[in-house]
Amino acid sequence: MRFHKAEWAFFVFIFVILAASLVMLHAYGQLQSFALEVRNPDRLAKVTYLNQLLFIISLLLAAALCFGTFFIYPLIRRQVQEEGKLRAMTASLSARSETMEMAALTDSLTGTHNRRYFDTALSAYIEEFRRIGKPIGLMILDLDHFKQVNDTHGHDVGDEVLKAVGKCLKDMTRYHDVVARLGGEEFAVVTPNMDVDKLERFGQRIRKAVADLTIPTGNIHLRVTTSVGLAIWDGKESGDEFYRRADRQLYEAKRQGRNRVCA
Ligand code: GH3
Ligand code: MG
Ligand code: MG
Repeated sequence: MRFHKAEWAFFVFIFVILAASLVMLHAYGQLQSFALEVRNPDRLAKVTYLNQLLFIISLLLAAALCFGTFFIYPLIRRQVQEEGKLRAMTASLSARSETMEMAALTDSLTGTHNRRYFDTALSAYIEEFRRIGKPIGLMILDLDHFKQVNDTHGHDVGDEVLKAVGKCLKDMTRYHDVVARLGGEEFAVVTPNMDVDKLERFGQRIRKAVADLTIPTGNIHLRVTTSVGLAIWDGKESGDEFYRRADRQLYEAKRQGRNRVCA
């Protein structure tokens, strides 16, 4: 059985408490035998009081030991197991993406995953997270007035914008997040283990990062903005229903004037 760093740290902590308890018991024994030799009643009262204090400290240490062993340790263990499963799942998804034809799962323009990978990954995360009861966030992004970029600067410049946005999303996400281009100028990010507050902050950071991108074209630096729709998986819905809910938020962000995040 292999232990995680957090578990080793916990064992050291318990060992220190255990050692302190033994020293305490020893001191308690010594003081009790010393009490037998004391004749002066005043001193005897003090020694007895000290003895009681040591006894209470021993009890507190024992309580800390029990609390640590039966309450804190199972929590650490569960956390470690869940983290392990998440890593294994991410590794298996990556392995799958390597063994299945890479081209079939990657968007050739941006190098992000494609719609097919997104659908598979979202279903896999939903299946796993249904079991462990943790949140999954979903972010759908659609570039604003992208048709104008193509019309004004040409399709090639439009492609450069899409590549820059894809790179930006990949740079800003974590190892187990899934970044995919769903088609056209629409992207998605699946963020396992993110609650609504974190997801909203993350959505805002991404929206700002896209707005801060500058794409050199001729002698100007082009800027684009994106609208973002967010949803947290409700624990029951299918991947498709989950996607449609986030997509409705995206359209709300468009309706409210674009370059904003709706959850
Ligand atoms: P909105 O803010 O409402 O999203 O407006 P929009 O112009 O972004 O949306 P619309 O759906 O009207 O236009 C999307 C454009 O994206 C039209 C299409 O030419 C362009 N597009 C789709 N795929 C690609 C691509 O691979 N490369 C380039 N350069 N453009 C693309
Ligand atoms: Mg658009
Ligand atoms: Mg679109």
